[in-house]
Amino acid sequence: MSPIIDRLALIGVGLIGGSIARAAREYGAVRSIVATARSAATRKRVVELGIADRVVETNAEAVKDADLVIVCIPVGASGPVVAEIAAALKPGAIVSDVGSVKSAVLNDMAPHVPKGVHLIPAHPVAGTENSGPDSGFSELFVNRWCILTPPEGADKEAVEKLHAFWSALGANVEIMTAEHHDMVLAITSHLPHLIAYTIVGTAEEFSQVSRSEVLKFSAGGFRDFTRIAASDPTMWRDVFLHNKDAVLEMLAQFNEDLAKLTRAMRRGDGNALFDHFTRTRAIRRGIVQIGQDSAAPDFGRAHPAKATGTIPRPYSADNE
Ligand code: NAP
Repeated sequence: MSPIIDRLALIGVGLIGGSIARAAREYGAVRSIVATARSAATRKRVVELGIADRVVETNAEAVKDADLVIVCIPVGASGPVVAEIAAALKPGAIVSDVGSVKSAVLNDMAPHVPKGVHLIPAHPVAGTENSGPDSGFSELFVNRWCILTPPEGADKEAVEKLHAFWSALGANVEIMTAEHHDMVLAITSHLPHLIAYTIVGTAEEFSQVSRSEVLKFSAGGFRDFTRIAASDPTMWRDVFLHNKDAVLEMLAQFNEDLAKLTRAMRRGDGNALFDHFTRTRAIRRGIVQIGQDSAAPDFGRAHPAKATGTIPRPYSADNE
């Protein structure tokens, strides 16, 4: 089977870029991978890990002759990076990203993309709280959603190619507008992270309970928040700065709902509390039913093709 993409360029090799590199190779989705990262230390580590065919020093060098360029860096840095690579992009190439926010990224990237190059932003809804090239693993995207947000009038063939690429990595692909993506993720990801960051900070500042007690009794619920609140500070700073409007809208709604529960508690309205918790329990059961329940990284989940024994071998001239 021939690979979907001839040459893949990765700009940024952290958790997401490192996972794409491993998965693209393992599942035979690309013929070759050229990677680069901002720091010499990360580039050196990528060479040591051997997860790319070539590691180069500059972003412009990485995208030369690439058919698909995926920018895997914090969303605030995407615009300047695309401005930097614009002149080196091959006509007909696809430029994509993995940012957790889409409208701002689209607005920042689009003005720099030359005519004849296809900009198709994407967001794999998969991750862990770890960062850096060592934290990536090939099964990260298996059975997870990858949302593509092509701008209006985007090239159909380019969208199909990117769709096929993410499917080969094991992801389920969905297409929506950047604006809708940002609303959906504000409630399913960004607001939960904001709450986790808040509550872990509150526990730290609460002086009547000692830090060692907080750690000792964390299985009472706190532990799950600490995992989310350990997520990368740069990435999440950029998410809140770039999806501000949608998150603020969700936060206003959240504060109203919290006020309702607070009132019920103060009034001793057990029925209101019980009804609310019954509704939320049904949501949890729905998530379990559709197989999106695991908070742990998806180690051990089988790629669909792996489960059926039809996984393509990594590309080599012999198996084309
Ligand atoms: P990461 O592990 O911290 O890796 C970030 C990479 O970006 C590193 O290679 C880093 O290079 C590079 N970088 C950082 N700042 C840069 C800058 N100003 N200019 C150029 N390169 C820069 O991060 P990640 O978790 O892979 O996240 C990358 C993107 O994926 C983010 O946009 C995030 O929103 C999105 N995303 C993350 C998750 C998740 O759960 N983590 C899930 C879905 C999508 P150096 O190592 O050389 O500094």
